[in-house]
Amino acid sequence: MKVAFLGLGHMGLPMAVNLVRAGHEVLGFDVVPAALEAARTEGIPTAESTQACAAGAEVVLTMFPSGRHLLDAYRGGLLEAAPADSLFLDCSTINVDEAREAAELAVAAGHRAADAPVSGGVVGAQAGTLTFMVGASAPEFDAVLPLLEVMGKRVVHCGGNGAGQAAKICNNMLLGISMIGAAEAFVLGEKLGLGHQALFDVISTASGQCWAVTTNCPVPGPVPASPANRDYQPGFAGALMAKDLGLALNALQGTGVAAELGPLAAQIYQRFAEEGGAGRDFSGIITQIRDHSRSAL
Ligand code: NAD
Repeated sequence: MKVAFLGLGHMGLPMAVNLVRAGHEVLGFDVVPAALEAARTEGIPTAESTQACAAGAEVVLTMFPSGRHLLDAYRGGLLEAAPADSLFLDCSTINVDEAREAAELAVAAGHRAADAPVSGGVVGAQAGTLTFMVGASAPEFDAVLPLLEVMGKRVVHCGGNGAGQAAKICNNMLLGISMIGAAEAFVLGEKLGLGHQALFDVISTASGQCWAVTTNCPVPGPVPASPANRDYQPGFAGALMAKDLGLALNALQGTGVAAELGPLAAQIYQRFAEEGGAGRDFSGIITQIRDHSRSAL
């Protein structure tokens, strides 16, 4: 397929590389010259402008920092630049409302649209093992599936436009809450004299079992590959968790859900990001809980 790939950052560049390796015809563009340079170094041809990038595309794939970037690009000429009936595939993580608005703009301009945010991080993007959560009608889902299967190992059709973002936001809200819970449990265990391994052996096979403990364990030792073993190098950075919980908060407020833990988790990760955790793995929240805990009574 002929793919215009806009947004060649941490995630976009390795995703574009995998598309090229699979034989797709990719033309890249980014507003940052260094990103264009890096793309060319990786063998991805680049365009001089948004318009030139989209001009011959069948699929316009975007991987932007936020919904604002996406809507500005859609309103700023990207939709007009692509041939009629192009498929606009957005893989950024953005607000559900923004995803729906972007899809409406694309359709109104004579195109098709799908949202497909990812989980799996830069490592997953490089290895082609991302999980895609897709919001699209059935024909659009079928059309983007061959591309997504190149960049990911799991593709879930969640519903119509915006449903991919909705699934991503719900999942990451639960992830943020469960990591805070896991970290609090390990700090409480420390205070009560429990060894990390003993508590892990119990939780990982008991009813508290969750991904935050069994895969991304916030203490070093029990899970050798977890970021806690490398001083909380990400992994999934605190800034991104704070961002995703902000999106969840917007969705909670917009829908009127009587959630208490989601907003609290958003506040906790916002503080974590502001107090030095932005570039650390989100499991590093445990260090903040420890630091803020009183010494033994
Ligand atoms: P990034 O900031 O590294 O990359 C985004 C790129 O988009 C930048 O290079 C920026 O210059 C470019 N860009 C912005 N506006 C543009 C425009 N109009 N035209 C062309 N390029 C433009 O961000 P990232 O880490 O690659 O994340 C991208 C998206 O994926 C975000 O929405 C993020 O929340 C999501 N995500 C990231 C991760 C991760 O681990 N990094 C994991 C899952 C999801």
